[in-house]
Amino acid sequence: MREIQMVDLQKQYSNIRSEINDAIQKVIDSTAFIKGPEVTEFEKELQDYMGVKHVVSCANGTDALQIAMMTLGLKPGDEVITTDFTFISTVEVVALLGLKLVLVDPDPDTFNISPEAVMKAVTPHTKAIVPVHLFGQCSDMESINKIAGQYGLFVIEDAAQSTGADFIFSNGKKQKSGTIGDIGTTSFFPSKNLGCYGDGGALYTNNEEFAIKARSIANHGMKIKYHHDHVGINSRLDTVQAAILRVKLKYLDKYNEARRNAADYYDKAFASCPYIVSPRRVPWSTHIFHQYTLRIKNGKRDELKKYLSEKKIPSMVYYPVPLHKQNAYRYLGYKEEDFPVTNALCSEVLSLPMHPEIDTEQLEYITQNVLKFFE
Ligand SMILES: *Cc1c(COP(=O)(O)O)cnc(C)c1O
Repeated sequence: MREIQMVDLQKQYSNIRSEINDAIQKVIDSTAFIKGPEVTEFEKELQDYMGVKHVVSCANGTDALQIAMMTLGLKPGDEVITTDFTFISTVEVVALLGLKLVLVDPDPDTFNISPEAVMKAVTPHTKAIVPVHLFGQCSDMESINKIAGQYGLFVIEDAAQSTGADFIFSNGKKQKSGTIGDIGTTSFFPSKNLGCYGDGGALYTNNEEFAIKARSIANHGMKIKYHHDHVGINSRLDTVQAAILRVKLKYLDKYNEARRNAADYYDKAFASCPYIVSPRRVPWSTHIFHQYTLRIKNGKRDELKKYLSEKKIPSMVYYPVPLHKQNAYRYLGYKEEDFPVTNALCSEVLSLPMHPEIDTEQLEYITQNVLKFFE
């Protein structure tokens, strides 16, 4: 059996090696390293895939969030509501821009932001809500957009973990994750569902004004060379990375399907184990399983992790410490008991190996060992 990885980028590369190598070689031959034609081509192809009017590429997913907040003109003191259970990027840029970070507890079954909690956190100073589609499944966007509409708030979707997932409206209409709010952001970090071979990111929007402003901010705040309309940043997607992403975008649906099949295998294997809660699948979203995250209910998550690692099965805790307990964010003044859900999740969650290349032999070995631990 091939050694099990959380994400098997080597195997994936070996399957598409000549296509990738050709794409990279072509960029090097052209020496158009910055803003080469592949960047625009990739943006267009991603626009078509996402069914969105504008894709603005940038250097990484953290920058994408920052550019989104700058584009919406958020000012120091404006309140931004997001979840206590996410990767640090989401809140980092809020703090860096001098905005007021308002954290809320997620829903324990979906790991995503809870619309009820958002509703309670709205004040006259609230300007934006940032739902994060954690682990590959959309937040309840219909409820979030409703709250936003009611109070005149912007919605920025952090879709770094959900590239390719569909949000399903109650009338049955489907729309890609990241294209439902005012602006969506994503990351092409290598381990993401659509990952490049370095850093990369993008913003999605159907609003032309936002698209023009975001593109300008990502490029030193200029539209015309050396004329600066906004305070900007330098955040570009490399041409080499765009060329790689053009190859990988063609396989994205296939990759996501393979992840779903692996998740089905896990679900079935764990269905009868009383100590394991498999990830909930909601009716309003397809799941693209950026992570397959269990909740371990007998208090032995850390022992299970250790047991698996002895069997050469990697696993990860996303995330071990809630944001409100991070040293950098203590200034917010939250108390431990403000977040019963994240406190519990951080001691229960365990993500198992999940990638399109995982095979049945590996899945069988992983699931048998997990079940053996609970015998
Ligand atoms: C990966 C990720 C980002 C951004 O990542 P970069 O490394 O900056 O590309 C933002 N939010 C979430 C939830 C992520 O998982």
